[in-house]
Amino acid sequence: MAAASIPHDHVAIIGTGFGAIATAVRLQRAGFEDLVLIDRAEDVGGVWRDNDYPGAAVDVKSHLYSLSFAPNPEWHNVFARQPELHDYLRSVVDRFDLRRRLILGCEVEELRWDSDRQLWRLETARGPRTARHVVVATGALAEPVEPDLPGLPSFMGTRFHSARWDHDFDLAGKQVAVIGTGASAVQFVPAIAPTVDHLTLFQRTPPWIMPRHDHEISARARRIFRAVPLAQRASRAAIYCQFEWMILGFRHPPLMRLAERRARRHLESQVADPGLRAKLTPDYSLGCKRILLSDEYLPALTRPNVAVDTDGIREITEHGVLDGAGVEHPVDAIILGTGFDTLGLPLTDRIHDADGVAMADRWAGDPTAYLGTAVAGYPNCFLIHGPNIGTGHNSVLQMLESQAAYIASAIGYAEEHGLGAVQPTEAAQEAYAAEVDRMSEGTVWTAGGCRSWYLNDKGRNVNIWPGTTFDFRRRTRRFEPTAHLMEKARQGRGEQAAWVPA
Ligand code: NAP
Repeated sequence: MAAASIPHDHVAIIGTGFGAIATAVRLQRAGFEDLVLIDRAEDVGGVWRDNDYPGAAVDVKSHLYSLSFAPNPEWHNVFARQPELHDYLRSVVDRFDLRRRLILGCEVEELRWDSDRQLWRLETARGPRTARHVVVATGALAEPVEPDLPGLPSFMGTRFHSARWDHDFDLAGKQVAVIGTGASAVQFVPAIAPTVDHLTLFQRTPPWIMPRHDHEISARARRIFRAVPLAQRASRAAIYCQFEWMILGFRHPPLMRLAERRARRHLESQVADPGLRAKLTPDYSLGCKRILLSDEYLPALTRPNVAVDTDGIREITEHGVLDGAGVEHPVDAIILGTGFDTLGLPLTDRIHDADGVAMADRWAGDPTAYLGTAVAGYPNCFLIHGPNIGTGHNSVLQMLESQAAYIASAIGYAEEHGLGAVQPTEAAQEAYAAEVDRMSEGTVWTAGGCRSWYLNDKGRNVNIWPGTTFDFRRRTRRFEPTAHLMEKARQGRGEQAAWVPA
């Protein structure tokens, strides 16, 4: 194919979840018209498209878990359900006229930085493309993990992951094994327990469960939010403040004991059997793993057709699960609530620098990025939900919108100053990572006595931002030239340009 026929965009955003949409709107508002959003799926929505398991809902109040520039007075519940969230994202795409920018059903297979042309070369399922800037908004929770359990592939029944729910499989009257007790399982177990004949839950670590108190938002309240947008903004601000100060507990684990007492009372009020209660009582600090909110999960575990197995899994047989005590549990289906590959961020094994080195190889299991967003050696490439962007105490959308602001600011700066390429300096990236490490010390995430997907193999926090979202917003408000290397835009082939500090 002739080079001229390769489609080129100023900005290519990969993904269509919350972060991608927030970035696209931000760039559009800054006047960047030449941008596309590319997604491997046939619809927009990211995790809220993929995680459509029974009971799926957000665990941050919806007035906060929505985009600041697209308030939704119509939220039906305090915690929106997955279909409503998915519809919301579709509606934001329409409201901000992004549909014309979508390239759906197009997997991005590889990205290579072309230092001569100062652009990214994308290999996609629909052929090559180029872009001056790429925003990798594929999310940290996009690739489901199948656990490495002996015999799992030989299981002859039905098996699927919660993020790839098999809606054609009728659970009615079936014997089911569920593996995992994280945020997803806590939602789908109570949703399917009344339907199945029997459910055995294989629990490796009990989660801390707090009351959820979900309820419908009354028609009257919705009318008020519709008529008085300020009322909804006030509600959002109140929820934000309520969550934001909770960072104190995460940073000072002894403060978490108060909340632990509340969670213990919740357990006692919902589970009468002391034996089962003992199995469900965590032995690590609350907050070390994600705090789960549910009023239905614990009661579901007390049902006569539900058993909690804590003996471990020795192997999966052709017909069931052999537990650590040597008891075989014959089942028709195994449902994996085993989480996501959060260490190898999606695509980073296929983003290559000018020398062909993949970002994931450069990281070697120890990911760092300046502001969790940009990586030295990979110019004009921005990661939405990159390293240390997750939050335990507040809505992650606060973080993603801050990243979007930084990205728009960086691309805007490059335009304004005639730059062909920008990247953070190694020093800025290292200093930032060292600061995140320092801030993580002694927090509930690193010193809370658990293993979680927030930590890498060395026990380093690579997923959580250990500060306030307010602080992160302050850091990302404006592109900081002194933390970057820059190259003037080359006007023609063969023209030289050199990396220089600001
Ligand atoms: P997760 O929190 O990573 O939980 C995975 C579960 O699988 C854990 O209980 C883990 O046990 C277990 N597991 C993994 N490998 C296993 C093995 N080989 N044998 C036995 N058990 C095994 O995954 P998730 O529940 O899908 O949630 C992931 C993240 O998605 C959450 O933290 C949250 O950020 C997000 N999420 C949010 C919502 C929401 O907003 N409502 C809903 C769902 C998910 P251990 O604990 O012992 O490792």
